Amino acid sequence: MYIGGDWVSTPDQQTIELPYDGTSVATVYRASAKEVPMAVARASAAAPAMREMTRDERSTILRRAYEKMLTAREELAMAVTNECGKPIREARTEVDRAAQTVLFASEEAHRLQGEVVPMDASPAGKGRWGMTVREPLGVIAAITPFNFPLNLSMHKIGPAIAAGNTIVHKPASATPLSALLMARIFAECALPAGALNVVTGPGGLIGDLLVTHKDVAMVTFTGSVDVGVRIRNMVGMKRVTLELGGNAAVIVEEDADLNAVVPRSVVGAFAHSGQVCISVQRIFVHRKIRAEFLERFVEATRKLRIGHPHDPATDISSLITLGEAERVESWIGEAIQAGASLLSGGTRRRATIEPTILADAPTTVRAACREVFGPVVVVNSYDTLDEAIERLNHSEYGLQAGIYTRDMEKAFRAARRIRTGGVHINEVPAYRVDQMPYGGVKMSGAGREGPKYAIEEMTEVKLITWNA
Ligand code: NAP
Repeated sequence: MYIGGDWVSTPDQQTIELPYDGTSVATVYRASAKEVPMAVARASAAAPAMREMTRDERSTILRRAYEKMLTAREELAMAVTNECGKPIREARTEVDRAAQTVLFASEEAHRLQGEVVPMDASPAGKGRWGMTVREPLGVIAAITPFNFPLNLSMHKIGPAIAAGNTIVHKPASATPLSALLMARIFAECALPAGALNVVTGPGGLIGDLLVTHKDVAMVTFTGSVDVGVRIRNMVGMKRVTLELGGNAAVIVEEDADLNAVVPRSVVGAFAHSGQVCISVQRIFVHRKIRAEFLERFVEATRKLRIGHPHDPATDISSLITLGEAERVESWIGEAIQAGASLLSGGTRRRATIEPTILADAPTTVRAACREVFGPVVVVNSYDTLDEAIERLNHSEYGLQAGIYTRDMEKAFRAARRIRTGGVHINEVPAYRVDQMPYGGVKMSGAGREGPKYAIEEMTEVKLITWNA
């Protein structure tokens, strides 16, 4: 654990295992109730120094961290693969994206600005000047999930530093390794001791203590709906950002270019075995092109290589735990029982699930209406665009969506009517670049990430007026 600039040990240890085969890859210390107030105290103590730092000083720290991440690319990628089990090729991409996230945060530190308020637009404002400044909130609790352990952490830590806050980071229990490496990297970049603290331990034990601590000003959480809602209900007046789950969908119109749709749907549905919050889980394909789409989609999916995550040729590796794989397997079985056709995959070996395509699953089965978080996609056909939009919107989630069509009128009609945080035209919902605003509506969350937008969430607008 890393608290107040020191590496801290506790009597309690946890072995981190490669999810693919259970090989031990590291041992970390687990926090008890004692380490949480200690970390918050050190973060509070560091807050004045961070607040006083110039934008340029904060930007420089982040820029250095970006450069060091590129140098440590292979070490970080191996840590990501070992802790969350994603194929090494995807882990390298995650490191590159995480470095970019930190670079964007560094650039946003320079751009952090307020505005001049036209006070004399009101009769009572004659002779007054007004301006706003954006001030840091103080201590931010950042809680992150297992599936993108590095990049999603940087989406919180980068903007928090850019805005002049201090952080207590609690990574997922399964994936603390990249978080601890980043604590070392930030320390090497002259981030003041206490500005970033990493507390490793079970959320069920230390989560409540952290999010309800009186000196924590904001909780930024990425994870499941259940935990997100629990946090929201506990934190009272604290600022909170929630990036939660989804069952993202894409509409494929009859004029879509299948040469583009098919490969993107394979990546969108099966990258990191579908353990992506914007994974393509539902595909609505126009009835006229259903047969051709399915034939090509199944053929391309069957080419994916299943294997050990350290092998650079591997496309599909394991889910995070055996229990999760068994759950996904049972949801596939439930869909088939309810009348869905299994077109590809469907089998499990230990924690690895073969990429699975189901057709015509009833909307009530869990593989269609809940978040699968596994390599499973449900394909249904439709007759009119209005029907497809209605079925896409028939979800308790709303993170991102996609539509493929060459008809711009249809594309923008769909974009206006789809109820999600983002809509991609001629792209799958799994698409994300790290500077864009990102977040959900409905049960998918509240607030936006992407460094520029996260900084807005992580600062308070203060008004200053002058009676001249
Ligand atoms: P999770 O079980 O909700 O865990 C997320 C984090 O919350 C972990 O660090 C976990 O710690 C912690 N936690 C657990 N119980 C807590 C409590 N009572 N108080 C405070 N923290 C607590 O989610 P996950 O399984 O790691 O990740 C998968 C979920 O994340 C999916 O639903 C996915 O859609 C969502 N996700 C959303 C986005 C997005 O941007 N919208 C991105 C990625 C993932 P422990 O590991 O110690 O339990």
